[in-house]
Parts: sequence; C-alpha cells; structure tokens
Amino acid sequence: MEALTDEQRMVLKTVRELAEQNFAEKACTWNDQAPWENIQLLAEHGFLGLNFDEKYGGGGMTEIEAVLMIEIVSRVCPDTGLFLNSQQMLAPRAVNEFGTESAKKAYLPPIMNGEDAMALAISEPDAGSDVSAMNTTAVEDGDGFRVTGEKTWVSDVPHSSSAVVWVRYPNEGLGSLIVDFDAEGVDIANHFTNMAGHKQTQFYMEDVYVPKENVLTHGRSAFKEQLVSLNWERLGNAAMITGRMAFALDMAIEYATEREQFGQPIGDFQGIEWKLADLVKQYKAAQGLTHQAARNAVSADRTLNRLDASVATLYASEVAERVVSECLQIHGANAYQRGHPLEFLYRDVRGWRIGAGTDEIQKNQIADAIKENGLGHIV
Ligand SMILES: Cc1cc2nc3c(=O)[nH]c(=O)nc-3n(C[C@H](O)[C@H](O)[C@H](O)COP(=O)(O)OP(=O)(O)OC[C@H]3O[C@@H](n4cnc5c(N)ncnc54)[C@H](O)[C@@H]3O)c2cc1C
Repeated sequence: MEALTDEQRMVLKTVRELAEQNFAEKACTWNDQAPWENIQLLAEHGFLGLNFDEKYGGGGMTEIEAVLMIEIVSRVCPDTGLFLNSQQMLAPRAVNEFGTESAKKAYLPPIMNGEDAMALAISEPDAGSDVSAMNTTAVEDGDGFRVTGEKTWVSDVPHSSSAVVWVRYPNEGLGSLIVDFDAEGVDIANHFTNMAGHKQTQFYMEDVYVPKENVLTHGRSAFKEQLVSLNWERLGNAAMITGRMAFALDMAIEYATEREQFGQPIGDFQGIEWKLADLVKQYKAAQGLTHQAARNAVSADRTLNRLDASVATLYASEVAERVVSECLQIHGANAYQRGHPLEFLYRDVRGWRIGAGTDEIQKNQIADAIKENGLGHIV
C-alpha cells in the first residue's frame, strides 16, 4: 500500500515478522479456543488496539494500521486475524467511539493488554438481517437501565467477560449498552459450534441492571450512529477475508511448485498457471478495494461510507469462497482431509457470506447508497 509513513511501515513489518515466527505452526488448529498466546505476544509488543487511544492502552494510530494488521496476521494465522478483527473493529471499537470516559477506562485496557475480550450481541431469533425487529429492551430504572431479552449467534462469548448489546429503548428506538456476563440475570444458554468449529452463543437477559455509564448510544440518533459503526466491522471483515485468501494462495503456489505429475511440477501446466493467475487477480482486487476503503475513510474525517464498506466485504467474501476452493483443488486429495489447513479454511470462509450482514444485505446497502449519492467522484 503506497503512502505509508516510515513508522506505519515499521510497525506492520514487525507485526508480520512476529506472526511468521510465532503463529504459523499452530495456524488452523485452534478450533473453538481463542489464540491467547498469540494475542498476549502481540500485547507484550504493544500491537493490540493499534487504532485505539494510547490513554486506554491502544497504539494511537488509525484504522488503516488496524485493517492492515488484521490482513497481515490473517495471512499467517486466520484465527488470530479473526480475534484481532473482532477486538479492533467491533465491540471495543464501539466502546471507544460511543462510550463514556468511565466505560472506556474500565473496559478497554484489559483488552489492549490481551487479558480480556468483548463480544458484540446484535442478532436475535426473530431479528437477523432485520435488526430493527429486535425485542431486547432496556427500561430506565434509577441511575441505569434494566435489560431483558435474548441474543443468539454471538461470537467471542466463551473468552469474553462482557458484550456490547444492541437494545430497544421503549419509545426511543434502538441503541446499545455494555452487559457484563457475570451480572445477575444473565443466563448463557447454549454454545453452538459453527462449520468452522467456532462457538456462537445464545444467552438470555432477565432484568439485568446496567448503570448509565455503561450506555453507549441512546436517544434519537442512536440507531443511525450504531448502523454507521457496522461499516467498520465490514471493512475489518474484508481485511480478514483478504488475509485468508493470501494464506490459501501461499500454500497453493508452494504446492504447485513441489508436486510433480506427468514428469513435471503441476504448476508448469498451463491449466494450473492460469487458474493461479485468475485467483491472484481476484485476491488483488479484493485487497485493493479493502485498502482503498480504509484510506478513503481515514482521510475523509474517519467516516467510512457504506458503499465502500459493503463493496469491499461483499467482493472479498464472494471471491474468497472460490479462491480457497480452487487452492484446495490444486492440492488434490491431500487437502481434502480433516486437519488440513485448507479444509478448515474452506469451511471458515463460507461463514463470511453470512456474518456481519449477508451478501444480500450488502447488496441492499450498495443499492441504497447509489440511490442516495450515486457512485461518488474521483476527486
Ligand atoms: C460466522 C458468523 C459469526 C456471527 N457472529 C455474530 C456476532 O458476533 N454477533 C451477532 O449478533 N450475530 C452474529 N452472527 C449472526 C449474523 O449477524 C446473522 O446470521 C446475519 O445477520 C443474518 O441473519 P440470519 O442468520 O438470521 O438470517 P436471515 O436474516 O433470516 O436471512 C435468511 C436469508 O434471507 C436473506 N434475506 C433477509 N432479508 C433480505 C432482504 N431484505 N433482501 C434479500 N434477502 C434477504 C438473507 O440474505 C439470507 O440469505 C454471526 C453469523 C455468522 C455466520
């Protein structure tokens, strides 16, 4: 990516070297465990939360560095990239953007230190794509709110002590607040295992007390602000998926060079050369969209528009399914075995056409954005 400063370049190069030296061996073996040893190593080097304020233990940089770091780490260890994405672009980022000083001081430092994590709870049994149909309510009670409702499909719960929960305030629309999992009235009902082997959790809240300092958004514009924050999740997803494509391509390029059939490396057959060329084209296009969206957002007053965010994540998740599948194809039966990294990745990338907004919802976002503002301008 052009126009990185020397400092940005040095930080990201160090992150890459650290990941290559320490994360590669256990890549794609984490299943339902969080890769804590990798997270703690990044924390020791001060690389967690690059896009958060130094006051709360972050790196004082921008989302450009955070997005590039997610991509770089995902290329070496997809699970560590997933963790970084959720902790740099999802719930903690909402706390950083909307939280009170007291919430930021309480919740962000343990995450930046690699000691805790935070989940993002939006989905409900009857409110998936249609977030506005959610039923979890937050009713004012003295100096706080009482939260009642059910959330499901929530990632990160087993290794997090709290969640940013999206709620409905009676007569005031939607917003969000922080719920501690050890608060009275929280019942963790089920940890489902998804196709990638990761846990997604269903939990109930019954009259759970949340003090006002843990309210993130509330009031007339809350839902709109909240939806804008999803653009950052989509950008992080695009970076994480792009890194996964590079992981698969690195393996396929190496295998095509080593594996011989008919007396020559399979990578010298034009059928494989053209396949790789086509896959690399799609990977590069996804990477370009992701970097451009991050760069535009940070240079335009830290506002990421939904057109850029949805185009980047939609394209990346669509092509990743094919890229990973074809990299597996290049490995033949070798990769079609339980425990092979590409077998894991094949199952994993399928989920990203659903999580963080389905393909169809991304297309709705793109259609709405172009009706509102057209394609935008080059200058
Ligand atoms: C890997 C993964 C991780 C996740 N992590 C979290 C998490 O941490 N926190 C959380 O809250 N949730 C999480 N989710 C849930 C995710 O946000 C929802 O699955 C997603 O929003 C879709 O909701 P749904 O599954 O209920 O599908 P539905 O909304 O029921 O959609 C079913 C189908 O109908 C289509 N559809 C719906 N509406 C329209 C429309 N208007 N136009 C065209 N097609 C439409 C959808 O695209 C989809 O194909 C995760 C999901 C996955 C797969």
